[in-house]
Amino acid sequence: MSPVTLPAAAPALEAVAAAPKLAEDRAWPVTGPVIRTFQPPAEVWSAGHRGIDIAAAAGTTVVAAAAGTVTWVGVIAGVPSLSITHVSGLRTTYLPVTAIVSTGQVVAAGEAVGVLQAGHAVRDCLHLGLLRGSEYLDPLLWLTGARIGPIRLLPADTTVSQLSIKFQRYSR
Ligand SMILES: [Zn+2]
Repeated sequence: MSPVTLPAAAPALEAVAAAPKLAEDRAWPVTGPVIRTFQPPAEVWSAGHRGIDIAAAAGTTVVAAAAGTVTWVGVIAGVPSLSITHVSGLRTTYLPVTAIVSTGQVVAAGEAVGVLQAGHAVRDCLHLGLLRGSEYLDPLLWLTGARIGPIRLLPADTTVSQLSIKFQRYSR
């Protein structure tokens, strides 16, 4: 594999992944630097990045980020993916990943669930998404145990949350 030049912001992100501070029951789904962070769009319809990208070579085993039940295995717009619903009600999504588990299967944190494929970005990486219902949250905050704890209800007049955004469809 040829060397990859990272953007200027990468060193700090590399540091995040190099010294992971995980909540007790969570696991990095693949080991590698976070090469793209969560960027909720300013508006529902605008561009953003509804998850984080963790660099790892295609063929790498992907593990469950937390214990839960596999609730989706399939292909969306040509991209193989799977989802795990956790006890908290939050849902993690993994793509492009060919599942080695089946819908309904119960998995532990750190248990192998699939094999990473190429194609999400120029550099091979896992796209990890985190959802509460149809709202996308920041998986990095969740993985590191910061800020996103028990489910909290947003005030009725909240239009745009800094952490999440209403979302209708899969996207990069
Ligand atoms: Zn991504």
